[in-house]
Amino acid sequence: ADMINGLSKQSFPPCMQNLHRGLKEEHHLKHWGRLQYGLFLKGIGLSLEEALRFWKSEFTKAADMDGEKFDRQHSYNIRYNYGKEGKRADYTPFSCIKIITTNAPGVGHYHGCPFRHSDADLIEQKMNKMSFPKDKQTKVMEYIKGSHYQLACREYFKAAHKTEEEIDLMHPNQYYEESQRLIN
Ligand code: SF4
Repeated sequence: ADMINGLSKQSFPPCMQNLHRGLKEEHHLKHWGRLQYGLFLKGIGLSLEEALRFWKSEFTKAADMDGEKFDRQHSYNIRYNYGKEGKRADYTPFSCIKIITTNAPGVGHYHGCPFRHSDADLIEQKMNKMSFPKDKQTKVMEYIKGSHYQLACREYFKAAHKTEEEIDLMHPNQYYEESQRLIN
């Protein structure tokens, strides 16, 4: 849990960076955000105990949430995601296609795919801030315009990791794993 901040900057795809930022700013995420981010974190190896610690430490920074209320309102759903409650199914992290095509985010939501659901200007601003080369930025924007969101993400990955290696991006957890492979 203590490594998530650093890893999010280093290796999380833009969708999960958004969720992490939203959680840090609001000390809360709505249902689909908790699900998308919680299952992603499970997929990168966060254990149930660490997940409970991570979510509790963030949520209880909000003025209206204490540890007891958190345990009452949220720990069941976290245990559920890990197959410890309800149907006891081992839920897997969402793929890019699922994130892109279902449950579009509304106002105050942080889930979804930024290439599909965010204002393209915001992505351009972020790429400028990260000093991505102009040709890479142009490619990302062209893919967004053509509704090729995963290809836009792949170009983004290449620019963020200063690589020309092509990855066939299908899943946010794959983005993370490829990033870790290149970094370590
Ligand atoms: Fe996340 Fe996939 Fe969208 Fe990239 S293409 S931001 S990994 S959902």
